[in-house]
Amino acid sequence: MIIVMKKNSTQQDVEKIVEVLKEHGLGANLSTGSQATIVGVLGDKTKLGDFDFELMEGVEKCVPIMHPYKLASHEMCPDGRVVEVGDLKIGEKKLIMMAGPCAVENEEQIMKAALGVKAGGAQFLRGGAYKPRTSPYSFQGLEEEGLKMMRRAADANGLKVISEVVAHDQIDTAGKYCDMLQIGARNMQNFRLLREVGRSKIPVLLKRGISSTIEEWLDAAEYIMSEGNYNVVLCERGIRTFETATRNTLDVSAVPVVKERSSLPIIIDPSHAAGKSKYITALSLAGIAAGADGLIIEVHPNPKAAMSDAAQQLTPEAYAQLMKKVGALAQVVGREI
Ligand code: PEP
Ligand code: MN
Repeated sequence: MIIVMKKNSTQQDVEKIVEVLKEHGLGANLSTGSQATIVGVLGDKTKLGDFDFELMEGVEKCVPIMHPYKLASHEMCPDGRVVEVGDLKIGEKKLIMMAGPCAVENEEQIMKAALGVKAGGAQFLRGGAYKPRTSPYSFQGLEEEGLKMMRRAADANGLKVISEVVAHDQIDTAGKYCDMLQIGARNMQNFRLLREVGRSKIPVLLKRGISSTIEEWLDAAEYIMSEGNYNVVLCERGIRTFETATRNTLDVSAVPVVKERSSLPIIIDPSHAAGKSKYITALSLAGIAAGADGLIIEVHPNPKAAMSDAAQQLTPEAYAQLMKKVGALAQVVGREI
């Protein structure tokens, strides 16, 4: 449930409501929006019995949230949440760009990748150090050594680091080197992992599961937020359909649907959606045109030699070309890069 305050309500009115909630063993999420201040009720609302907030000073109305996700809902924060990663803000006018190889392979590769994506205009260096591979015999990532290499390459180029964790016992180690942690598609419903990244308070990029509905995806975000970590950014990376021409099918519709139902920023991963480098530009532009807050794109200094996802990685030159087009489109849709 949310409690919508009147335009002329005072700070004391809000404080009194928070106090009453506390007395009933409930928490509050305050959102001071452009239209009104909203007090989100956190916890089991039945504890309130028949207490009527609409009789309290400054209250306009109480509105139940009908979805199972509350903190992630649009109602709880109608102006949208802005996720801060250090000095960067995700969910504002400026589009946020993450780029880098599928996996960190060695010092030279990640250094060249960092240099290339920085030149193209990215703010984040991506790269997997713990890789979720379909086959146990495929390259599994360089783990902590890879994270160290990535941190050095990012620092040398003024970039932030985003990398994936596939298990909860990797969070502490990854947290030493990363500015943001990625939860991959295969782990979207790994509830223990979601709770633990929630407790870590490190900003999280939550990818959509390969066969997950938007509702399930927002429920997964709620797991993270329910632990007190509101720094969650969603990532549409393609879903499995009957189509085989592309690796997955980019669900562009997810962008406006998420914007309508949720307060969270959303970015697009065209690389894992397309699976082929030649389609990445088209899908990137589609995502931004639909209203996404940024892109995460795989870029490798020598894609043909990549140890994973070789077919979908762009060269730094191709990435720079793509970014020029994204920059031009950004102006049309009222964004900037
Ligand atoms: C990745 O980003 O390298 C990755 C494995 O992505 P996804 O979880 O979307 O497959
Ligand atoms: Mn990949």
